[in-house]
Amino acid sequence: MHEMHDAVIVGGGPAGASCAIWLARLGLSPLLVEAAARPGGLTRDNPFADDWIAALPGATGQQVADNIEASVRAAGVPLRLGTRATGVRPCKGGVEVALDGGGAGPALARARALVIASGVRAKGLPGYPAGERWPGVLIGPGSPIVAQDYSGLSVAVLGGGDNAFENYVYVRNRGAREVHLYARSVRAQQQWVMRAGAQGVRVGPYQVDPAARSVDGRRYDLILVFYGWEPQADFADSLKLARDERGYIRTDFATAQTSLPDIYAIGEVANRMHPCVVTSMADGVVAAKAIQRRWERPGA
Ligand SMILES: Cc1cc2nc3c(=O)[nH]c(=O)nc-3n(C[C@H](O)[C@H](O)[C@H](O)COP(=O)(O)OP(=O)(O)OC[C@H]3O[C@@H](n4cnc5c(N)ncnc54)[C@H](O)[C@@H]3O)c2cc1C
Repeated sequence: MHEMHDAVIVGGGPAGASCAIWLARLGLSPLLVEAAARPGGLTRDNPFADDWIAALPGATGQQVADNIEASVRAAGVPLRLGTRATGVRPCKGGVEVALDGGGAGPALARARALVIASGVRAKGLPGYPAGERWPGVLIGPGSPIVAQDYSGLSVAVLGGGDNAFENYVYVRNRGAREVHLYARSVRAQQQWVMRAGAQGVRVGPYQVDPAARSVDGRRYDLILVFYGWEPQADFADSLKLARDERGYIRTDFATAQTSLPDIYAIGEVANRMHPCVVTSMADGVVAAKAIQRRWERPGA
């Protein structure tokens, strides 16, 4: 028989880790499930200074992730790392979450509540399956962009938001032979648009052929795609939770509860506040306190 946890939290980024830490410290029994080898979420992919957290001056995103991991361990949160939630269904007194740990650990976790904290993934090229990849085509920001050697290469950067403009400027300063930015429309902050300048920036419709690595018929050594983000919570699709028009899970603002009782969604997957580490961690607190109130005053 599987142990009944108070809450299974899927996703060990800032939101899920914060929720699990608060639940553990509030005397409840969480189980934190994380697909990656270590907790930390998207911020582990950020090697640059994270100057947006008032309490952590000078820390890089990766150090923030290390701190999150240290806090999870200090709170004694039970962890399933390298384990992906693949499905969920209601069971007597709660939910059963199907787990794929690559053969390690039980294939099922049971809990009185489910907290969905599985974040977002970078959007790929429209018209292709979500996970499809091509040589020389990098999707989304983070470590792979930083690890890439741009010396002497011709590079196309696709997208009209902050990430596209910021990375366009970044690549231009990394020894590339030529860099062009393609934006159907411009949504980036003015400071990035100014820094990018007009030369090399093409605004309007364009055609991409990822297999030929070309844009409007012009071949590039590298194509970098920054088309924004989309929520990732496919494992919970069977619950048919209410979503907004962009697919983010709808929640009650005061409790982070979804359209189903005892199912919560926090952090970027629910897009409740401006997406960042601090708001995601705050969401974790909201859900943990709501779960505590629910079990300590079941009628509430
Ligand atoms: C390059 C980059 C730089 C950034 N810089 C900053 C910054 O300077 N300051 C700032 O505040 N924010 C920054 N952010 C944003 C910040 O990282 C996010 O807002 C934050 O990480 C969101 O937290 P989250 O917990 O909602 O989701 P995530 O961090 O995305 O965590 C979700 C976790 O869920 C796991 N997961 C997903 N599906 C499953 C599943 N089925 N089973 C098990 N686990 C699953 C994922 O592996 C992931 O670890 C940056 C993001 C990027 C990509």
